[in-house]
This record gives sequence, C-alpha cells and structure tokens, in this order.
Amino acid sequence: MATKYIFLTGGVVSSVGKGVTAAAIGRLLKERGFSVAVQKLDPYINVDPGTMSPYQHGEVYGLDDGAETDLDLGHYERFIDVRLNRVCNITTGQVYAEVISKERRGDYLGGTIQVIPHITNEIKRRIAMVSKTTGAEIVLVEVGGTVGDIESLPFLEAIRQLRSDVGRENTFYIHVTWLPFIGATEELKTKPTQHSVRELRSIGISPDMIVARSDTPVDEELCKKIALFCDVEFRAVLPMVTTKILYEVPLLIEESGVADFILQRLGLEARQKPDWSEWRRLVERVRQPKPKLSIALVGKYVELHDAYMSVREALKHAALHLGVEVDIQWVHSAELEKGKGWDLVKSASGVIVPGGFGSRGIEGKIQAIHYARTEKVPFLGLCLGMQLMVVEFGRYVLGSDDVNSTEFDRSTRYPVIDLMPEQHGITDMGGTMRLGLYPCQLQPGTVSAACYGVEQVQERHRHRFEFNNAYRESFQAHGMRFAGLSPDGRLVEISEIADHPFMVGTQFHPEFLSRPNRPHPLFSGFMRAAAERAGVLEAEKSNGHNTVPEH
Ligand code: GLN
Repeated sequence: MATKYIFLTGGVVSSVGKGVTAAAIGRLLKERGFSVAVQKLDPYINVDPGTMSPYQHGEVYGLDDGAETDLDLGHYERFIDVRLNRVCNITTGQVYAEVISKERRGDYLGGTIQVIPHITNEIKRRIAMVSKTTGAEIVLVEVGGTVGDIESLPFLEAIRQLRSDVGRENTFYIHVTWLPFIGATEELKTKPTQHSVRELRSIGISPDMIVARSDTPVDEELCKKIALFCDVEFRAVLPMVTTKILYEVPLLIEESGVADFILQRLGLEARQKPDWSEWRRLVERVRQPKPKLSIALVGKYVELHDAYMSVREALKHAALHLGVEVDIQWVHSAELEKGKGWDLVKSASGVIVPGGFGSRGIEGKIQAIHYARTEKVPFLGLCLGMQLMVVEFGRYVLGSDDVNSTEFDRSTRYPVIDLMPEQHGITDMGGTMRLGLYPCQLQPGTVSAACYGVEQVQERHRHRFEFNNAYRESFQAHGMRFAGLSPDGRLVEISEIADHPFMVGTQFHPEFLSRPNRPHPLFSGFMRAAAERAGVLEAEKSNGHNTVPEH
C-alpha cells in the first residue's frame, strides 16, 4: 500500500503536548495492525540537539543508530514501542547543510538555490526516507513550533505540497491547539484556535482534524463551534483535557473514536481490534494508591525536569511494576557542595546520578555517591554517574585526593576516567561522541547479570570518556566489580560495588530502552533494592518478570 502520512501542526501556544498526541495516535494505529513510525521536524538551525544545553532543550534522546534527537522521540518510542532511526528527527540545520553541500559540489548545475523548491524538496526527501528506512506503513510527522513562526514556514510549505504529491487520500492533517480559560467569566475560548486555523489556511493547509487541548472539560457546544468556525466535521474535533496520567492519553483518544475516522479518511480499514487490556492495567496501576518510595535524583539541571525525561519515565515504569510510587527528590548537586539539600538525599531510599557534561556540580555528585556507598543506600549511576562512582571509589578506597576524570582535571595524578583513544584529536563537538547501540557482555555472578538474566545485551551510548584500564586491577582488588564489558573485554560498560546491596553504574543509558510495559531490568533491580531498604515490599504483588529490552 502507498505510505500514509499524518501531519501534526501546533497552534496558539507551544508545549501543549503535540508530541504526546502524535505518540498516542501512533499507538492507536499500531493497535489496529499497522506498522507506524513518527518523525519530528525541528525548525531550529542546530544540526541536532546534541550540542544544546538541556536548559534550552530538555533531554537529548539517543537512538540505536547514535542519533541525538529531540525528547519527543522518547515519547514516540515509549508509547508505540518502536525503535526509530536518525531520519525520524530532522532540523533546519540538517536540511540547509545538505543543500549547501550539494550546491558546493555543483549538483545544481548553475541553478539559483531557493527555499522553494530546493529546501522544500530536501525536506520532502527526508520525510520519504522514514517509510523507506523503517518500513512503516503510516508515518506521523510532527512539525515543531507553532503555526505563525517564521522558521517553520519551509516545513509547512513542504507538508502542504505533499498533499498533491502523494494524493489527498494518503494525507491527513491534524492541528493541535489550546483553549484558554478566562477566569472572570469562567469560560473556555475558541477564538485563538479559529485564528490559528486561519493562519494555517493562509499557507494552504486545511486541517482534517482539530485537537483542542484544555485544562478544563470541553462541552459539546464548544466542539460544535470549533467545527463550524474551523470547517472540520464535528467528529473531527477532539477535545483533550489535561490528565495527570501521561499513559492514559491513548485510552482517552481511543474513547473518542477518532482513530477510525482517521483510518476512514486514509482509505484504510483496521486489520485487528485494538487490545488495550495491558494499557488499561497499566493505567489502573497508576491510579491505585501505592506506598511511596523516595528516590534522590542528583543532577545539575534539576530545575527543569524535562532534562531528565527518560530517567524519570524509567523510574516510573520500574516503580509501577513493583507496585510502588516513585517520589523523585530533585537534588541540585551544586547545592550539596554548599551543604544544602542533604535532608532530601538522606531521607531517600535510593540515589540516582544521571548523565551530564562539564564540571559544575561534580563534587556534589561525588559526595552523594560517597554517602550512598558508605551508607549502603541503593545507587544507580548513568554514564557520568558511573564515571563519578569510579572517581569516588578511587579517592576514598584507594586513598588519594588527586583522582579525577580528565574531563574535569586534565592534569590529575590518577586519571581513572579518561578520554577514549578514538576521541583524541577530535575538535568538533557535534555528533562526535561514542554514540548508539553497542554490545555489553555481562559477567556471571554479578548483580547486573542477575537483573538482566541473559549474557549479552545491547545498550545505547553517548559519551567521550571511559574507565581507564590502567586502574582495573587495583580497583578490582579493592572491591569494584566490572559487571559488564565490551565483548572484546576492552571497555568497561558496567561497574558495581561488591559489598553493597545495589551499587551499579553503567557507561550506557539504560533509561532510553525502558518501556511502560517493559521496565528496564537495571531500573527494576535498583527500585527493588530501594523498596527493600524502605521496607515497602511486603505487600508486593509481582507484576510480571523483568524482561530484557528487545533488540
Ligand atoms: N561527560 C561524560 C562523557 O562524555 C558523560 C556523558 C554522559 O553522561 N552522557 O563521557
């Protein structure tokens, strides 16, 4: 069958959950027996978000093929349970870089290079790549930003052209807007939605469906009004009220019946009846009151929770399956250095130090790790968290203050974490780390091997520095275990502390492979150890076994 395209644009304001809407609709279509992929078009000029500050952009989400992408890709993968690739996130920067390099090569044979058609053609080429590389029958394309932004115009023009390129019956346009609530009159307003649809029409796109986001319930009259003013069918207006339960969104959309409307407009028939039983159980588990388990997340971007989106979701997945509710204490590592925030760390049943770059707050993280190791508090270190676990061990167990990662001190006497050999001489910052999926051989008899229950796994990486093998023997002799190694034995992938209930650090990012229905084995192991410490596991009804992420 011809590839079907569903385009999502945003109106009125940003941050209304366009990504989650795309992910949830993707899931609805997958439930009906179609293979689905989602692509995000980001209007910024950066080639990818890999070089952007998490304060600006939130988490950088890593894929199997090493692409550094927008955090919406995390929603897509978690909701739809797919593995996406680098063509699923394109930016203005990538598009222009490609067109300009072709121009320099002389590929345009003397032509004048313009936004239309050269830039729009390159955008369309990249949209077409999604089904070619993933085999998806239905491709959802989310355009970042809000209609009316100058920078997203070429993307909108490209998706407009696609309607006639691939045929009306193969395209469907969804506009996601916001209904503001006016407190004085206690009513929701549709005017901004009307204006934004008009703006969209002025560039030639007529939406087939409107998702009207709101914080309060939207009545039928209002939906009728939106249908009338925005020229869509009444059944094509989907009111979506904010929910506290993220994973409830697909169920809410399912109830509205719009999935069948979308399929009908795309000339498709559902191949199977959706089976939501597992999702319903999941949402039911979220609703049930559960014992709280406090976990201290010690990071440096903690003011912005989006910077740790996948870590937070992975903790939630593991907690749900354990029958507890994770209560994340966001601890700023730089505050710990000033002696502040320790009450949060000390009252938590587990400590997690996620990934990061740069020296700010490093010492605070090391102190938190020191506390977790000596007090035998369950600890999970992710990438930088693992590297600092090694630094802490070197300083306190091997006994020298002058132990560090060369990322933070180039002339340290004991560089226990050092630049990977292949990283020497690299001067470009963008896309040059060790990125993507690499195998990790688990060492029998270790905590990590017990969590995974298999001998080899593939995990996603994003780092420049690694454990310095010159220190392997002495660390091992003092009680650090290298529980995961690259198959050739050269790279340390996981380190553990032997005499500890659960102290595991991974050079990779397990959080990217956790799924709501399939928590990551290491997160499950960590949460179980924390729950045991808190004594909240007595009433535990096991909700299925841990399974290794599919590869
Ligand atoms: N800054 C460290 C490195 O480059 C850790 C990276 C990370 O935590 N993702 O190796």
